[in-house]
Amino acid sequence: MSEPAVVQRLAELRQLIARHATRGPVAICAVTKGFSADVVRAAEELGCDAVGENYAQEAISKIAAVGDAHPPVHFIGRLQSNKVRSLVAVVAVWQSVDRASLVDEIAKRAPGARIFVQVNATDEVDKGGCALSDTAALVARAQTAGLRVEGLMTVGPTEPDPDRTRSAFVAVRQMADDLGLTGCSMGMSGDLAVALAAGSTMVRVGTALFGERPAAAQKPEVI
Ligand SMILES: *Cc1c(COP(=O)(O)O)cnc(C)c1O
Repeated sequence: MSEPAVVQRLAELRQLIARHATRGPVAICAVTKGFSADVVRAAEELGCDAVGENYAQEAISKIAAVGDAHPPVHFIGRLQSNKVRSLVAVVAVWQSVDRASLVDEIAKRAPGARIFVQVNATDEVDKGGCALSDTAALVARAQTAGLRVEGLMTVGPTEPDPDRTRSAFVAVRQMADDLGLTGCSMGMSGDLAVALAAGSTMVRVGTALFGERPAAAQKPEVI
């Protein structure tokens, strides 16, 4: 990662947001999974609103390495309940909350925590997120448990398809509005414009800022 290249790409991202955003200010969550702690520091220096991490152990060791020099950490990866306790000290916002057991564990370990409920709007198996039809109940459960539900989070279809991507994002935005939630975390490097047009309030951007991830980052975590 060369710093001038990232500065340039961040400027381009901000321009893209200015062109396509439809819901006011859009936060930038810099996805640092797979990259070194230096990239987390760079995200801080560049003024990114958040850093997104997917893997518990990686997040914990990188945040330990950077000390206070990091934007708020948003956990965006598949999350096992038994990892919550070890993550409480580093995670500011839990974006991948997709089932009741996880709601209960976060409410127990981090009372009042800020969360997004993750929705799988494309019914792809093997993908995180609750079904659209289960979203209202899960949001209600989280609110009852005292969590601050800031919005919904979703990941577009794995196979790029502009029509499916658009309809998934529109459905999640609609669901957030129906539930009175302002936040909508959607849009990654490959589908930013579509997500912004549909009403995203936070994009999660990795490769479009920092370039290709080191190959090891693709592998699921084994602890
Ligand atoms: C990796 C990841 C991203 C960022 O993906 P890019 O294509 O690199 O922008 C965003 N959201 C989630 C949930 C991810 O796992």
